[in-house]
Amino acid sequence: MSAGIQREVAAAERAAAGSLLADTPTALLLNGVWCEASDGGTFAVENPATGETLVRVASATPTDGVAALDGAVAAQAAWAATAPRERAEILRRAFELLIERREEFAQLITLEMGKPIAESRGEVTYGAEFLRWFSEETSRISGRYATAPDGNSRLLVLRRPVGPCLFVTPWNFPLAMATRKIAPAIAAGCTAVLKPAVLTPLTALRFAQVLQEAGLPDGVLNVIPTASAGAVTGPLIADPRLRKLSFTGSTPVGKRLIADAAHGVLRVSMELGGNAPFLVFPDADLDRAVDGAMLAKFRNGGEACTAANRFLVHESIAADFAERLTARVAALAVGDGSAAGTQQGPLVDRATLEKVSELVESARAEGAVATTGGHALEGAGYFYAPTVLTGVAPGARILGEEIFGPVAPITVFADEAEAIRLANDTEYGLVGYAYTRDLNRGLRLAEQLEVGMFGLNTGIVSNPAAPFGGVKQSGLGREGGAEGIEEFLETTYVGIADPLLDAAA
Ligand code: NAP
Repeated sequence: MSAGIQREVAAAERAAAGSLLADTPTALLLNGVWCEASDGGTFAVENPATGETLVRVASATPTDGVAALDGAVAAQAAWAATAPRERAEILRRAFELLIERREEFAQLITLEMGKPIAESRGEVTYGAEFLRWFSEETSRISGRYATAPDGNSRLLVLRRPVGPCLFVTPWNFPLAMATRKIAPAIAAGCTAVLKPAVLTPLTALRFAQVLQEAGLPDGVLNVIPTASAGAVTGPLIADPRLRKLSFTGSTPVGKRLIADAAHGVLRVSMELGGNAPFLVFPDADLDRAVDGAMLAKFRNGGEACTAANRFLVHESIAADFAERLTARVAALAVGDGSAAGTQQGPLVDRATLEKVSELVESARAEGAVATTGGHALEGAGYFYAPTVLTGVAPGARILGEEIFGPVAPITVFADEAEAIRLANDTEYGLVGYAYTRDLNRGLRLAEQLEVGMFGLNTGIVSNPAAPFGGVKQSGLGREGGAEGIEEFLETTYVGIADPLLDAAA
């Protein structure tokens, strides 16, 4: 069991948090202007480590949502016409500002979302890298000119921005999930409306301020935090002026939005839930596999779509793996993410804590044993003890759902075929991980696991230069990499009569 919770935050950090909050926008950003909600409504943002309200934020109404889209539509033509280099330089300046202000953004992420400050710093770096990567991609947008196969005409292919976009983002990476969409949109020449998660709007609002400072023109990015997600996004998705919806969040909400988007044949990108298998073969370097497991499972307290959700371990090494993992997990320092040294923060809210508790109880009822943790931690905030479960039978409920918490269920397999069958036994297909020293086996897994991303001997795959996304019910489209900007570009083909005909005449 983990030893107590570190709840004490130094006075200096508490004071810094106070001035950071006083300095962070809490209004809507509509066409370059920070405004209150049209009905004056607000909602509270909580610190999940204490349950206390940090600040209240303006809650956009459906009318405000339409005003945000009006801003994006008004800015679209001029923005599409800017020189790629100009767009690139705005992104580059924003990247530099974020890096310069890494500490304040990290503190803000920890305050509203709960993750340990060291991980928040990592998120700022990761989130900022999308700005740098797409600033570099901006000047590489190109088309093509070709002679048709019969030689009688020419084919010109142009790439153009798709137009005004709606972005809906989750709370688990409040900065990176926003920059992963905003950066390629800006690079491609699209304008956007961002609806951040109700639990974590502050980071997105402060980031919008950075973009303004970097020179982003009014209306290119509009931000509408709201406590009424569906009521505000519904009219926008139905609005024929909107050209793209990019959503990151749970699969059930994603399915609903795909259905809504179908009415206007709106382009959609969907980054949805995951149920990642983490395979450990008998030839694996076990120390490295445990290091990878700690990253794949306990980074962000397990609240990541890429979190390992099912540890599938060969029967010959399962006991050894479980013992080593248990020792590492039991030693994790749990506490307020703002306190130095914290390795596991709270879960984001009470509902998440209750869901994790319930899943662990269901696993116990189905025969699993907690070798460490297995219970919520008492007191303020939403803490769950980091947990390892052994003896989890294939088919157990906990293996079929996204845990989204610090719980590692271990199941054994007998051979590679069974490992692949168990790994693919899910409607999700975001990411998989495997530890093996056999390169051929690694490549077989890369070809046979039904996932959009595969970590071979690594517990972390996210990289701004790589295409992030899933197959099956984990989503549609890719973010990051060379593929990321494609999602924001439309293709126009121009058929041209053979220009040599004139020369011949
Ligand atoms: P969520 O409940 O689906 O919410 C995601 C976003 O959708 C939030 O902004 C939410 O607003 C909004 N939303 C909820 N209901 C809506 C509706 N009816 N219409 C329009 N918008 C609506 O997911 P979450 O709990 O925030 O995030 C966790 C999920 O995200 C997990 O399933 C995780 O796997 C997934 N995720 C996927 C990726 C990926 O790249 N594949 C990355 C990160 C997270 P409110 O905040 O107001 O509810």
